[in-house]
Amino acid sequence: MGQGILFIVSAPSGAGKTSLVRALLERDPALALSVSCTTRAPRTGEQDGVHYHFLARERFEQAIAAGDFLESAEVFGNLYGTREQDVRDRLEAGEDLILEIDWQGARQVRERIPEAVGIFVLPPSIAELERRLRGRGTDSDTVIAGRMAQARDEMIHGDEYDYLVVNGDFDAALATLAAIVTAERQRQARQQTVLAALLEG
Ligand code: 5GP
Repeated sequence: MGQGILFIVSAPSGAGKTSLVRALLERDPALALSVSCTTRAPRTGEQDGVHYHFLARERFEQAIAAGDFLESAEVFGNLYGTREQDVRDRLEAGEDLILEIDWQGARQVRERIPEAVGIFVLPPSIAELERRLRGRGTDSDTVIAGRMAQARDEMIHGDEYDYLVVNGDFDAALATLAAIVTAERQRQARQQTVLAALLEG
């Protein structure tokens, strides 16, 4: 089996990245999601080892020092990182893997694995992004303003990605994501074994 494809998916918070990725995984069983490590506390319903590997800050910092992470970054005051060995093992086993990480992590991955495919999910407009962030209903105006500023900071890095997907209509955005995955699987370099087998046969 050939080497799997590494997809990086980033987005400002409120763009709908997590729901899109979840739906993409459901319709494409050959895709898998990498489970990140974080120092943030689990939210209600989140399970250790499923949504994240939840680590104490000290253990996380030890893992950074030991070189365990393919990438790591501080986001909203918490540390997040992707374990390198997990990713390499899964790619070598031929799995197509998604990393749901921020732009800082995406940069580090691109440096180490240049063939990684970067996808950036955008909201259809700033007004819609604000509406979605407010729709959660739990945050004060100050928190919303802070999140909007953070979203802009994230979006500044959109041009570092191979693909931009606007999530206005959910189903359309999902179809676009699925099309990107399909197109990447067909790339000539990744089809060499198919071609070689045909020519030999
Ligand atoms: P949340 O805490 O809401 O699950 O995630 C907050 C942010 O951290 C999101 O932008 C998410 O993409 C990012 N994130 C999650 N896991 C990782 C990771 O392993 N590495 C990096 N660099 N960012 C991550």
